[in-house]
Amino acid sequence: MKFNTKTIHGGQIKEKGYGAVMPPIYQTSTYSQTSPGEHKGYEYSRTHNPTRSALENSLASIENGKYGLAFSSGLSAIDAVLKLFDPGDEIISTNDLYGGSYRLFEKVFKKFGLKFIFSDLQNLNEVSKLVSKKTKLIWVETPTNPMMNLIDINAISKICKRNKILLAVDNTFATPYLQKPLDLGADIVMHSATKYLAGHSDVILGALIVNDSELAERLYFLQNSSGAICGPMDSFLTLRGIKTLHVRMERHCYNAEKIVHFLSNHKKIDKLYWPGISTHPKHTLAKSQMSGFGGMVSFTTKNGSFKSVQEITSKLKVFTLAESLGGVESLANHPASMTHASIPKDLREKTGVVDSLIRLSVGIEDIDDLISDIEQAIG
Ligand SMILES: *Cc1c(COP(=O)(O)O)cnc(C)c1O
Repeated sequence: MKFNTKTIHGGQIKEKGYGAVMPPIYQTSTYSQTSPGEHKGYEYSRTHNPTRSALENSLASIENGKYGLAFSSGLSAIDAVLKLFDPGDEIISTNDLYGGSYRLFEKVFKKFGLKFIFSDLQNLNEVSKLVSKKTKLIWVETPTNPMMNLIDINAISKICKRNKILLAVDNTFATPYLQKPLDLGADIVMHSATKYLAGHSDVILGALIVNDSELAERLYFLQNSSGAICGPMDSFLTLRGIKTLHVRMERHCYNAEKIVHFLSNHKKIDKLYWPGISTHPKHTLAKSQMSGFGGMVSFTTKNGSFKSVQEITSKLKVFTLAESLGGVESLANHPASMTHASIPKDLREKTGVVDSLIRLSVGIEDIDDLISDIEQAIG
């Protein structure tokens, strides 16, 4: 089955009761048993729920994995991965990580004895140097937010295999439409399905996808034991979102490319960050690792004052000034005052998050309206 068919049918079982084409929302906590322990595979909805199972099977299918697990949020999915490890274990991670993941690592799991090492994982020699006997996991995000740095998943997976370390990839930005980490050698794929997978800015949900049955077993155990599962309604909405993932992503990529072209010819624009530009330092890797360049675009203006950028973002009409990304509607974000405001100025500027940086989550509206909106805002 090809990807564009998998998004609609992958892992789905035909409903026998009434022939419903969409899996029903099984809004139930428990299931009747004919005699003690005799049931139809479902006993209690923390453990399993048929709507969640339909979503989990879809997730596995689109990521070319065997096992899918759905959680109440992206962060609770990461939380389950971290609980695989023991005090003293070391985890190496990208230094320009999603802020919430960083907070979970440093402010929650560090005190339980896990050690986190943050580094620029674009530099492969550096990665090999950081690996020790205690290293158990490398956690990668690619492309990164908001600087669009790219990490070579296949090269890192080779280092991991040599050292018997697990590799997890946060695939939220790229989605399996553009990048399939399991095919590239990763052991765990993680998603904030809140973003592109669900795609309509109406649900918070997280996912893990793996191939190894023993690893899947340990994660299902943690999912059921800690209980951060998503409800049937959210599972249904995400499953519905996935059915149009390929069509939406095609338009996200198309619109982003047109906007990048417009910005690259604009005299007030200074730097542009998008993996599809030939001058992007990892453009060659983007072409080999991804099948397109995505809908996230960051840029800086030449008059880079905090105030001038805030003025631009507040003039936008079609773009909504908001956090989050990946929905059908276009969003603009000023990282320095919004998503990355909690990071000290000197630290964030070192990674490129300067006051004049604007991040766009390009939606699927008509491209002419999007470009006119940016044009009138920048002036
Ligand atoms: C949003 C996001 C998360 C966290 O997911 P939630 O669904 O908000 O818990 C993790 N990683 C990335 C890259 C994200 O954008």
